[in-house]
Amino acid sequence: MPDAVLRAMHRASPNIYEGELHDLTASLIPDLRRVARTTGDVAIYIGNGHAAWEASLANLCAPGDRVLVLCTGRFGHGWAEMAEKLGLVVDVLDFGQTATVDAGRVTAALAADTDGAIKAVLVCQTDTSTGIRNDVAALRGVLDAAGHAALLMVDCMASLGCDVFEMDAWGVDVMVAGCQKGLMTPAGLAFVFFNARAAARQVARVSAWWDWTPRARPAQFYQYFDGTAPTHHLYGLRAALDMIGAEGLENVWTRHAVLSRAIWAACDVWGSAGPLRLNVTDAGLRSHSVTSIGLEAGQGDALRRWCEHTAGLTLGIGLGREPADAWFRLGHMGHVNAQMILGLVATLEAGLIACRIPHGAGGARAAAEVIAAAS
Ligand SMILES: *Cc1c(COP(=O)(O)O)cnc(C)c1O
Repeated sequence: MPDAVLRAMHRASPNIYEGELHDLTASLIPDLRRVARTTGDVAIYIGNGHAAWEASLANLCAPGDRVLVLCTGRFGHGWAEMAEKLGLVVDVLDFGQTATVDAGRVTAALAADTDGAIKAVLVCQTDTSTGIRNDVAALRGVLDAAGHAALLMVDCMASLGCDVFEMDAWGVDVMVAGCQKGLMTPAGLAFVFFNARAAARQVARVSAWWDWTPRARPAQFYQYFDGTAPTHHLYGLRAALDMIGAEGLENVWTRHAVLSRAIWAACDVWGSAGPLRLNVTDAGLRSHSVTSIGLEAGQGDALRRWCEHTAGLTLGIGLGREPADAWFRLGHMGHVNAQMILGLVATLEAGLIACRIPHGAGGARAAAEVIAAAS
């Protein structure tokens, strides 16, 4: 969380009826569009990523409607479970935890839907539990080639502002995100981006709270949030978007790519003489915001505990993995620079030594070489 974001939030309550807060809120919209690379609409909700999941489905699907969910980890299944609880008929294609979406299977599922019942195809660009990054542009190609009219809905919670994403150029109809990952703002704002094609397919009955239309096109300020604005989060987000704008989105993407490669270079060295392995073998299919790493049973938890208690470094748990205590994850999204990532890598190396987990020597050196070469 950048200090600039926290400082922007540290203020007295603003006037919610007129003035600065209204102007500031309006100013967020074009910058959110810029980060998502869209000229489409964006609705903002007070909520987390789960709220964005529900918001997107509530606007486009009624109970009994069919959706196809492409799963490459725990979060894909999470979106599918939410759809099920909303009464939708959910077809899940599970691609496991180490592979990206397979175009052939998606093509077959769409071809089998001869009456065009599937209203939307749902996928995570990055599944945060596995660190797999799906090729969203290719998926658009699969839908087009199949001649299927389903909307393409993409979860960019973990990838927006980290990995290259082009909502309009890639033909994404709906994109959901939250503010607490690449957008560097404390959890509490959820975003649903939608294009004209999706807007035209809004279902007849949407609750006033979930309805994205007044939020995206408010006639009155209170309609942005259907009630009191999330005042301080808006100031925080303004500061975060200013930081992204000042650096330049392409530079933000490049920074994430370089720092990811540094982490992976260290992992390759550590794994050359021991059990440590990157979950996704093909570097081209790895997320630039989160990396999932496997060890032997118990070792992942031991390393996490050492890093947390000895070095003040919090690692992610092995979400959805078996055995969970063999796995851990590194979040490298948003407010990260070379100094932080080299600190992360060196701390992990210290942890591997302290926990007596066999590993190849020189991981930190390998990461440093990647950083140096990119400068
Ligand atoms: C974090 C995340 C979510 C859920 O977001 P919450 O804010 O925890 O509800 C959903 N999908 C992906 C890919 C995520 O990384």
